[in-house]
Amino acid sequence: MANTKIDEKLQKIAKDLLESGEVSLIIGYAKGSNPQRMRPVFITKAEEAGKLSFSHYAVQDLAVFLKKPEVKKFGKIGIVVKGCDEKAVNALIQEYQISRDNIKIIGIECNGVIRQNLADKGETGVSESTVYDKCLICEEHIPVLYDFLIESEEPKLALSGNVKPYYGIEKLESMSAEEKNAFWAKEFDKCIKCYACRQACPLCYCSRCIVEKNMPQWIDTNSEETGNAQWNLIRAYHLSGRCIGCGECERACPVNIPLMLINEKMAKDVYNLFGYKSGLDINAKPVFGVFSESDFNDFIK
Ligand code: SF4
Ligand code: SF4
Ligand code: SF4
Repeated sequence: MANTKIDEKLQKIAKDLLESGEVSLIIGYAKGSNPQRMRPVFITKAEEAGKLSFSHYAVQDLAVFLKKPEVKKFGKIGIVVKGCDEKAVNALIQEYQISRDNIKIIGIECNGVIRQNLADKGETGVSESTVYDKCLICEEHIPVLYDFLIESEEPKLALSGNVKPYYGIEKLESMSAEEKNAFWAKEFDKCIKCYACRQACPLCYCSRCIVEKNMPQWIDTNSEETGNAQWNLIRAYHLSGRCIGCGECERACPVNIPLMLINEKMAKDVYNLFGYKSGLDINAKPVFGVFSESDFNDFIK
């Protein structure tokens, strides 16, 4: 496939950054094995910048690679991001996992990415029915922070107005405690403890996850009722106030557990209680990393 104008701009920025030595590595997207697939690519030489590309099939959140020691060793890194993914970069900076000084953010204005199952069937158009749910409630089509911005040349995704924020979690919230328990017991029963959700998450970066600690054994590692609930709930709590809603955990889950329902419910509650949204401000303290005497609970006073 021929380069688009976005590809040309992207390649030029990457080439200049590598040639000038401002970065040693660029993480971006390259065309995949078929026109409806894009894959992550790692560019270390200016002459390889021509591999970089972007399209509505660029679904992966590349910020996940920033936590890897193999990537960190490059020092100064450039990364291609959509608005949702860029919030993960911000959250990693907020949590002192990466330094703003070591990152060049190449932001791309994004109108939505096409669901992979539809892309595999040949879907080419961005519409309310073809993009991921996160795109329907997206507030960051343009990344909040960037060193370079490549604007979209395509028309904005027109929404019908019927789309509600937070993935329709009102239905879940309207359930009784027993109904919620039954709903999640059924969903978690499918979990095979593959940990793909964790591996795909840019903000799950503990060098040793609690599920792998066995002295003492905190969580049952079998994929059975108690262990599955423990795993999914502990992960939800570890991500509360931190999840930036990229949806990669849910996309990675091989048994289609609606993990974004949990993530968005936690995000909604954190916002309602503390007025905080993750990944919007690199100078903000993570909401559960600080306390205030004006907090509405008095247990800490
Ligand atoms: S959530 Fe926004 S930035 Fe992310 S893929 Fe969808 S439209 Fe693009
Ligand atoms: S928990 Fe899921 S949606 Fe949230 S940041 Fe991690 S991968 Fe993205
Ligand atoms: S990706 Fe799905 S099946 Fe695998 S551990 Fe996570 S929730 Fe369980």
